[in-house]
Amino acid sequence: MDLGLKGKQALVCGASKGLGRGCAEALAAEGVNVTLVARTADALEATAEAIRKASGVNVTTVACDITTPEGRAKALAACPQPDILVTNAGGPPPGDFRNWTRDDWIAAVDANMLTPIELIKATVDGMMARGFGRIVNITSSAVKAPIDVLGLSNGARSGLTGFVAGLARKTVANGVTINNLLPGQFDTDRLKKTMAASAAAAGKSTEDMFAARQQQIPARRFGNPAEFGAVCAFLCSVHAGYMTGQNVLLDGGNYPGTF
Ligand code: NAD
Repeated sequence: MDLGLKGKQALVCGASKGLGRGCAEALAAEGVNVTLVARTADALEATAEAIRKASGVNVTTVACDITTPEGRAKALAACPQPDILVTNAGGPPPGDFRNWTRDDWIAAVDANMLTPIELIKATVDGMMARGFGRIVNITSSAVKAPIDVLGLSNGARSGLTGFVAGLARKTVANGVTINNLLPGQFDTDRLKKTMAASAAAAGKSTEDMFAARQQQIPARRFGNPAEFGAVCAFLCSVHAGYMTGQNVLLDGGNYPGTF
């Protein structure tokens, strides 16, 4: 299927690794020029070079912290009028809500709610004026089924989800859709880190923890960033113009509900 995206411009956040990189690679494979944002310049450049070689599209990079006003200003200066925006940043740390301070909450809300909203605010009017736009927010399965130790994520991401539900109905008449992609467990650096921490806490080896977790998923495996990216590319495609305000869960069947 031709996704109809050749020559479009995307701004992809958190794109040097993991799910953001998966989205950037899938969009580039469809002929989309991509501006990649991540914190570490070396990893970002290596990813950019790999995408250039694989796809031949224009790849630009911005090394910054997207959760700061300065970082967002840099990213938007490099890519002021994207046709596609993929929002993404690191998730908040696990813990017990009794230990979280106001500053912990502000950091989580800044990273996983207000940063995507600020990026949308800066780009959505231009998309609507041009009559085409696709915004995909990488959130979490925690929005649909809370994860007890990730209260900061459950809370902050639910705030974004509520906001997007309203805005997505205001933009679609002008050709702009806004949807959220909800990862379950995907094989990325973040998953490896969180699983090593849970394994240590439970006195198990990381390998045993990995194997046990995969057995709990109906697909009996973790997802991979390429299949996450493929769904992102479809949501950005010309074929998905009637789909807006949706929360698309990618979790290998882990969520047990009928809907
Ligand atoms: P990852 O650690 O593999 O990659 C994160 C990428 O984002 C890296 O490129 C990193 O440089 C970049 N990044 C992080 N914070 C940034 C910031 N402040 N500014 C700019 N770039 C930043 O992580 P991942 O597994 O791809 O996760 C991506 C998002 O999805 C996270 O918010 C994570 O909490 C969420 N998530 C992941 C999973 C999973 O199983 N992997 C599950 C649920 C939710």
